[in-house]
Amino acid sequence: MNQAWWYNPFRTFQTNLREIDAGLDVEAVLDAIEAYGADTWLLSVGGIVANYPSRLSSQTVNPALAERGSGDLIGDAVTAAARRGIRVLGRMDFSKIDARRAEEHPEWCFVSPEGSPQIYNGYRSVCPSGDYYQHRMFDVVAEVLQRYDLGGFFFNWMSFNEFDYSRTYWGVCHCESCLVGFRAFAPGVPHPSGPDSPGYRTWQAFTDQVLGELQQRMREHIRALNSGAAYIQGDRGDITFHEANNAVGRPLWHHHTAEMVSAARSGEADRPVFVNAVGFVDMPYRWAGEDPNHFAQFLLQAIAHGAQPSTYIMGTPADSPFRALEAGGEVTRFHRDHEDLYAGLVSAARVALVRGSRPEPATAAARQSEFRGSYLSLLERHVPFDVLRQDQLGSLEADRYALVILPDLGALAAEEVAALERVLAAGGAVVASGDSAWQDGVLQLGGGTALAEHRATYRTEEAVRSLHLAVGEPEGDFTPVVGGFEVLEPAEGVETDWHVLGRALYGPPEKCHGHEATSHPGWISRDVGPGQLAVLPWRPGLVYRELGLSRVRDAWVDKILGLARVPLQVETDLPEQVQFVLGRTPHADVLHLLNRSGDAPQRFLRPVPLAAGRVRIPAEQEPASVRARVSDAELAWSWQDGVLEIQTPPLGLFEVLETQWHNK
Ligand SMILES: [Zn+2]
Repeated sequence: MNQAWWYNPFRTFQTNLREIDAGLDVEAVLDAIEAYGADTWLLSVGGIVANYPSRLSSQTVNPALAERGSGDLIGDAVTAAARRGIRVLGRMDFSKIDARRAEEHPEWCFVSPEGSPQIYNGYRSVCPSGDYYQHRMFDVVAEVLQRYDLGGFFFNWMSFNEFDYSRTYWGVCHCESCLVGFRAFAPGVPHPSGPDSPGYRTWQAFTDQVLGELQQRMREHIRALNSGAAYIQGDRGDITFHEANNAVGRPLWHHHTAEMVSAARSGEADRPVFVNAVGFVDMPYRWAGEDPNHFAQFLLQAIAHGAQPSTYIMGTPADSPFRALEAGGEVTRFHRDHEDLYAGLVSAARVALVRGSRPEPATAAARQSEFRGSYLSLLERHVPFDVLRQDQLGSLEADRYALVILPDLGALAAEEVAALERVLAAGGAVVASGDSAWQDGVLQLGGGTALAEHRATYRTEEAVRSLHLAVGEPEGDFTPVVGGFEVLEPAEGVETDWHVLGRALYGPPEKCHGHEATSHPGWISRDVGPGQLAVLPWRPGLVYRELGLSRVRDAWVDKILGLARVPLQVETDLPEQVQFVLGRTPHADVLHLLNRSGDAPQRFLRPVPLAAGRVRIPAEQEPASVRARVSDAELAWSWQDGVLEIQTPPLGLFEVLETQWHNK
């Protein structure tokens, strides 16, 4: 076990301070943090204003510190928190400087393609290529860590500032450092001005490299100054950061937090994930608390997938007395009181759903629909799964998953193909839907053994209009093809199913007859060595997501489960609104049951209480005990023929089943 504190469960409360808050009552805030169930305080330390008496010329000391006898909020907070065993993390924001410093150091600042500075609330945006980020930021962190025993840092808004707080687009930075840096990065490529410019993708690669190098240097800098301090940043620090939030005008995807956590943890299970749940509804509406049911989902989805929960408010708890914080406190205290369930918790799912990393704008919405429809299909059919990032597919361990699903990803990179071939060689199953793994009419998977010949792609809405597939039973209840179709001629000896009912006229019904069965399959599968490969040349997830046909969901999930050599589904009489998250710690198996009956358009309602039920999961041996941690009860169970059947208690918002074994 790694000794650093962040490899153990922790719970954070963030007070995001305004300048006027620097006189806050440290003991009162700590009382609120403790009562909430948190053991970590994320506090605004420096950058735009310093909440401690900085001696650096680049920093502006907060004038409101004069309200404190000590003149030092950070010193007071760290001392008082240490007495209670609470660690303090520092929030830093180096994205902006004031007008006076911008006058002295124009070379630090963002410059728009038209040559303008980016000014917001009187502050000038700073560019990560420039000296402020590249050097001064390191001086500030050193000054802070030399004075205060902080547990780590979070850096806000560390980006190239193409958008501002009002989501106004400013363009690609044209500061001197960017012009020089980009010329060296991509000689001959003209400096782009925005996403429509040629070379914008190269620009994105450049900014990614600049930020990656900067973050790597900062991680090493912090490590050298204090090996007990963590760097919390995107997915490149010691701790991965994700902000769970709502926003005006954004369609709600109910599984966003869970998806982000799973995607982070499946790629690197050892790296902790910090989910900062925003207590208010949107950045411009900081005094409008989030709905309690919605807020609870941020934290619950986080902990169920093994992330560390954090709650974020503006000012002090006295300034933000949101009703949502009651719900957030309940989840946070559950995590505190059942910390043993979350120490070393990793996913035990045997199914991976790959999330595309390179969507082209023209197809991004349809590809996302296939991903989300596949996500919902697995969840509702009680198949525990992980989300796997496509850009991490190349390093997938061959036997980690029994089933890997590629939902409409397009052509794959060579290392992705190699990783999937290793999965097949290890006896795993790979399923490709839509145009996944097709490159120039050739299927990239299957070790050179042809599965089918590619005849045509139906891309447009008109091309698939009135196209049907014979999916599942009963015969005659066809499935609409939506979002495109790959016309395939199956090779000899492969298994095919779900053939196309050819198109006939579509218009006034009088002439619209004559649909004929064809040999073009909606399903092709074959053994590839010890593994199984299946191709669905259409988009069952998209059809389910957009039309809600449960028979389509059931047909394709049953079919892909049939490919795998091991049972992948939790058998249960609980309804499809119950999500199972399968995990394990070094000491027990941990099964989260999440009641999703409150998921509704643009909101989460209070989940409907569900009756007791049972779940059946494969188990090689008899358990020592099965407990329900929310209900706080020993559960009745039976074990027979390699299957453990557990009687589950009535289900409110969630339950956690802990199964202990004799030999652990
Ligand atoms: Zn720049």
